[in-house]
Amino acid sequence: MANRFMDLLEYQGKQLFAKHGVPVSPGRPATTVQEAVAAADELGYPVVVKAQVLVGGRGKAGGVKLADDREQAEEHAGAILGLDIKGLRVRELWIEKASEIEEEYYAAFVFDRSAKKPMAMFSKMGGMDVEAITDEDPEAMRMLHVDPLLGFQDFHGRRLAFEADIAEDVIRPVGVMLGKLYEVFVAEDATLVEVNPLIVKTDRSLLALDAKVTIDDNALYRHPDTAEMRNISDEDPQESLAKERGLTYVPLEGNIGILGNGAGLVMSTLDVIALAGGRAANFCDLGGGGDAEGVVDALEVITRDPQVKSIFFNIFGGITRCDEVAKGILAALERMTIELPIVVRLDGTNAEEGRKILADAAIQNVHPEATMLDGARRAVELAA
Ligand code: GDP
Ligand code: MN
Repeated sequence: MANRFMDLLEYQGKQLFAKHGVPVSPGRPATTVQEAVAAADELGYPVVVKAQVLVGGRGKAGGVKLADDREQAEEHAGAILGLDIKGLRVRELWIEKASEIEEEYYAAFVFDRSAKKPMAMFSKMGGMDVEAITDEDPEAMRMLHVDPLLGFQDFHGRRLAFEADIAEDVIRPVGVMLGKLYEVFVAEDATLVEVNPLIVKTDRSLLALDAKVTIDDNALYRHPDTAEMRNISDEDPQESLAKERGLTYVPLEGNIGILGNGAGLVMSTLDVIALAGGRAANFCDLGGGGDAEGVVDALEVITRDPQVKSIFFNIFGGITRCDEVAKGILAALERMTIELPIVVRLDGTNAEEGRKILADAAIQNVHPEATMLDGARRAVELAA
């Protein structure tokens, strides 16, 4: 089951903008404070430090901050990295050269499902979300359906800008910019291109200060560069399910589903799988829970990934006892049907009892192993 849509981070959207001539401010991505400061130094101050998460309203949540010098850049980067914005942890920043803002507008192209046509939207009340704009004054949001055959011409854009009642000197340039945004929408197979705010700078030039781009998944094969942009904080159904069940789940690219207890063990399992010549499709950390409930939850999350061809259960019993985990696995398999091979390595507290429980149950697709390397080799072999 594939995702239907792929949301891009702001800076990824801006990369597509730049490709199609939509003006954006220069910037650099960063994942550490050090990188952020280096990026800021390189760009020159003032800069804006921006959280890269797939939700709007980052500004209000403290995820967008202006820095006038290196000290502030360091301080803001430190504060924003790790910040929780609407349930999403900030792992990446975008450091951008700051702009002097004179006006904030709203611009978007969306695919209107009911009309089966793209729709252009424009308002001079940018910087707040769409709902807030239409709540305050429905007339302030100007809209226009696009005939896909005729396309969206600059004069359509000028008409929207004129209707939105913006200053005369920027009507023509806004028309041009909307035309370029439509080009992004079409050329990149987007279902949404939103710029909020689209700003007029003090020198009266225009700039896309923010970018929200959603790509139609079914068209990704046409855009290998965009497909590469998929990021691990991207919300997919499995991740949401894992989050809901309180499990740590990370999707990867291979074909072996990994389940372990404890982050350290799970990480070393990835290495051992690689050593055995395989690649993990994902991993799920059971944490302390080895009971049937926890195992069912984890197996559900892991097997939902169609890439998975075998499952490697790697358990080192400490507080979690291996016989408990073995019983948990059997109980889970009674409740759900899994046809994939499941390799189970049990070691540590009560490992022998655990392996005996599994051996006695003699389930065809469950393969007990005593060591991590043997387990990994078996899982790789069975995934082939
Ligand atoms: P959002 O809150 O997630 O929509 O993030 P935005 O990228 O839209 O930024 C939020 C707000 O921060 C904008 O509406 C601006 O008011 C402000 N902001 C962002 N970048 C700059 C900048 O370069 N200069 C100034 N002065 N303000 C900025
Ligand atoms: Mn915004």
